[in-house]
Amino acid sequence: MKIAILALQGAFVEHERMLRSLGVDTFEVRNKDDWQQPKDGLIIPGGESTTVVKLLHDLDLLTPIQREINEGLPVFGTCAGLILLAKQENGQAASRISTMDIDVCRNAYGRQLGSFRTVSSFEGIENDIPMTFIRAPYINQVYGEAEALATVNGHIVAARQGHQLVTAFHPELDEDVSVHKYFVDIIKKG
Ligand code: GLN
Repeated sequence: MKIAILALQGAFVEHERMLRSLGVDTFEVRNKDDWQQPKDGLIIPGGESTTVVKLLHDLDLLTPIQREINEGLPVFGTCAGLILLAKQENGQAASRISTMDIDVCRNAYGRQLGSFRTVSSFEGIENDIPMTFIRAPYINQVYGEAEALATVNGHIVAARQGHQLVTAFHPELDEDVSVHKYFVDIIKKG
């Protein structure tokens, strides 16, 4: 199994480390040539979503990524990655990658409270897991095919739609590999 990790900005090295500890190969995507390589899944890390979207447009990567996800490529987006995958933002259609039936609220916790840690349950993972939020979004609502997997303080912070998985928090910044394992299992079950 080989998983592509978008490496334009943000915490991509930490995702590589998590996957390697699960025995999964990775490669970094910085341009269209990288993207052409065969892959079983894609991780879109945190960062600044406005910057990442601009870079994806400039590198002519947005449409190819969108197409492969729509064709069934498993994808896992964390934080800004979640924002990129949402079809809606606060009730308005979003035009990013926008392949997932979720409505996102960016910087949802305000500037001061945007970063915090907690431990909470996650549907499909047996034990509670650590959740680190950094100027995080949350999901206002899931609709269509998407389902909520975790809720913190009454807000949805993780969701899945078939082969698409998102978390508002950063599992790659903690030692617990459960969420990455959950994603690898999505790929394995194909
Ligand atoms: N606040 C960032 C955004 O709107 C996301 C933060 C993150 O990915 N840690 O893109």
